[in-house]
Amino acid sequence: ADTLSVRELTDWMTRFADSVAARREYLTDLDSAIGDADHGTNMTRGMQAVTSKLESDPSETIDALFRAVGMALVSSVGGASGPLYGTFFLRFGGAAAGAATLDVGALGTCLRAGLDGVIARGKAELGDKTMLDAMIPAVDAFDGAADDLLAAVTAARDAAATGRDATEPLTARKGRASYLGDRSVGHVDPGATSTALLFDALAAAVAG
Ligand code: ADP
Ligand code: MG
Ligand code: MG
Repeated sequence: ADTLSVRELTDWMTRFADSVAARREYLTDLDSAIGDADHGTNMTRGMQAVTSKLESDPSETIDALFRAVGMALVSSVGGASGPLYGTFFLRFGGAAAGAATLDVGALGTCLRAGLDGVIARGKAELGDKTMLDAMIPAVDAFDGAADDLLAAVTAARDAAATGRDATEPLTARKGRASYLGDRSVGHVDPGATSTALLFDALAAAVAG
């Protein structure tokens, strides 16, 4: 398809929920090395709240869908990741206001708005060993890709995975992991790992 409607975007969220639930222990293990061992449970609880909400009260518009997603995450996750992902989806949906479908250009606008929301909320930069180390390269790769939806989401997925891997040698400068200073070196960031799953789910939803 060249455009995404509420149906495919809901599928993206369902795939992301399944993906974090399947990797709950892995995400929590990553967080046990440099945080407080709850990233897998936080993301699983948050995305479970999202899918329950979408099942009981399906959204009819794209902005309503992502408002519901963002609110469910903010209200169900106590950790840093809840408000950060919540902000990503609230801003994503805000950029889609009035649109019934997203083409590659509109999806790029929504992803950029979501990313800008995470930066504004968390005040982290590229290289701080956070989810932004996957998200910034993903959105940049999306924008730099050909004007083709599948090519753009595939480029974003690959860049997110590369960015995730690149967090391993970094010293954390934001979030709980920053309390460890240089002892955070040698571990992949949990939030960058869940962000790579988010872009993997998007590519899978587009591929169908
Ligand atoms: P908490 O750290 O509160 O327990 P989680 O474990 O669910 O929350 O999420 C931790 C992840 O959140 C980190 O791995 C990092 O990627 C991300 N993170 C933390 N602080 C920030 C920030 N200021 N900006 C962007 N991402 C952040
Ligand atoms: Mg944690
Ligand atoms: Mg925590």
